[in-house]
Amino acid sequence: MYDLIIVGGGPAGLTAGIYAVRSGLETLILERNEISGQIAMADIVENYPGFPSISGPELMEKYKSHAQEIGVKTKITDVLSVRSEGEKKIVTTDSGDLESKAVIIATGANPKHLNVPGEEELISKGVSYCAICDGPFFRNKTVVVIGGGNSAVTDALFLSKIARKVYLVHRRDWLRAEKVLQDRAFATSNIEFILNAYVVKIVGSSGGVKRVEKIVYKDLTSGESRELATDGVFIYVGIHPNTEIVNVEKDEEGFIKTDRSLETSEKGIYAVGDCRDTPIWQLVAAVRDGALAATAANEYIEKLKEKVT
Ligand code: NAP
Repeated sequence: MYDLIIVGGGPAGLTAGIYAVRSGLETLILERNEISGQIAMADIVENYPGFPSISGPELMEKYKSHAQEIGVKTKITDVLSVRSEGEKKIVTTDSGDLESKAVIIATGANPKHLNVPGEEELISKGVSYCAICDGPFFRNKTVVVIGGGNSAVTDALFLSKIARKVYLVHRRDWLRAEKVLQDRAFATSNIEFILNAYVVKIVGSSGGVKRVEKIVYKDLTSGESRELATDGVFIYVGIHPNTEIVNVEKDEEGFIKTDRSLETSEKGIYAVGDCRDTPIWQLVAAVRDGALAATAANEYIEKLKEKVT
């Protein structure tokens, strides 16, 4: 039996792993695949203290090698469920059950879909949720970015260096993104803003191999329906937590509710990073969560041991 199983190997999970191993806990991190964490999809990270500018994949590599050097064990497997059986935690994976005294859920979140006609059928045919992954396919082409948050603006800036033209289409006349990002985007000559505009449809080419050809949006100022020709559509309309594997208290969107020590409604099960109900979904918050939950889990396990002796 492990002391601690951590589900998810992004920044929050790896930080929890580092703290847990340093506390002497027999720890295992379970990851679905080698590339974990939304940060691995980020072009540039500029708000992580100590690193004025670093690429997401490079920062992720640094976390991973730090964790490996310290002796954090990881296993690639798909976790199907996490549950308590008395004081024991059972983690069911696609390769069998594992047992531990405590579990940290660090499963993160995935991009939400826009849910408009044409979107699903055109995924990988021009519709994408990741500029760093798919942006290079749009060299000297035209792309549309949908959304007004940090992800939309950051990736519009990334795409502006590859594509000929980037349209940022947003449903309001103001952006939610940080001012520093907005200012940079407003000053970029090949980014054009289409504000107060609601995308209603993504349209693919007819005949041959279907690919994105245009979007149809409603101009909320005039009420008119308009079309915009484009080769690609990058969608950034928020994130959806990966929390289906565990039956603990969640908010209406599925983010896990936690107390001050990041314990969930189930004793000995903690939640960290983007999958929990946090006031800020940021890298610094994720690593802080990892440290806090691992420390709390250590105290919880110590108390279990005291009960036995
Ligand atoms: P977000 O901040 O929630 O922004 C989502 C955007 O999509 C909002 O502008 C929202 O519009 C729009 N939207 C939502 N549903 C929509 C719909 N059905 N149709 C059209 N537009 C819709 O999400 P995010 O940008 O993915 O960021 C997620 C979290 O990661 C945030 O906390 C963010 O700060 C963080 N993040 C940070 C950085 C960084 O620090 N550099 C980079 C990326 C992400 P409204 O504005 O009208 O609500």
